[in-house]
Amino acid sequence: MSAMPAVVCEEVTKIYGTGHSAVAALRGVSFEMRKGEVCLIAGPSGCGKTTLLSILGGLLAPTSGRVKVLDQPLHALDDAALQRFRQQLVGFVFQAFNLVPSLTAVENVAVPLLLQGLESEQALARAREALRAAQLQGRDAMRPAQLSGGEKQRVAIARALVTHPPLLLCDEPTSALDGPTGQAVMALIARRAHEAGQTAIVVTHDERIFHYADRLVHMEDGRITGVEQ
Ligand code: ADP
Ligand code: MG
Repeated sequence: MSAMPAVVCEEVTKIYGTGHSAVAALRGVSFEMRKGEVCLIAGPSGCGKTTLLSILGGLLAPTSGRVKVLDQPLHALDDAALQRFRQQLVGFVFQAFNLVPSLTAVENVAVPLLLQGLESEQALARAREALRAAQLQGRDAMRPAQLSGGEKQRVAIARALVTHPPLLLCDEPTSALDGPTGQAVMALIARRAHEAGQTAIVVTHDERIFHYADRLVHMEDGRITGVEQ
């Protein structure tokens, strides 16, 4: 584990909307993470976890504050630079999976590799491997509508891991998985972090996976209320 910070947030706020309909989702969040760490973010529904993850992944701009991820000052990048950051450095497991319905499981997983310019045969071969690593066998040719919730979630995890991204952002990645499968997925994520230095930030309600955390961040009402190491 290196001492280089992978993530630095300083006084990050996010306000959705304006005037009477304004919602303060983040009210001044500051924290740091080291490269190769597994950081779990826990807290009640609505406390701002998905908002924070979206900002760290360059999908959402903060209202104020500074966000430095893998040495990139996200708050200062333009849209083209943010897109490059996402494509080259980030794997994202969305809470709602966000699979492409018209593509098969293996094609969904190959998408980030194709976007990075890999040739299609190679991309599909690596996608098949990633599905197996996510404990999903015999589902390569199925479309999302034919898969169970847990299977869709594992396709989404395979898609995030397939590029070996330096930063892995996972929004409730075990929500649809049974206990043993959830443990296996977290073990895979932790192995990638500790052996390959792929920093992982995982939002979760699931206390069964807390023991995978090198750093456990508690959030409440748009603020960090505690950090355990
Ligand atoms: P969590 O992931 O912890 O459940 P979120 O980050 O999704 O929390 O939401 C934090 C707060 O911001 C909630 O009050 C939610 O209703 C609000 N919120 C989230 N996304 C939007 C949006 N696009 N527009 C307006 N309010 C939003
Ligand atoms: Mg959420």
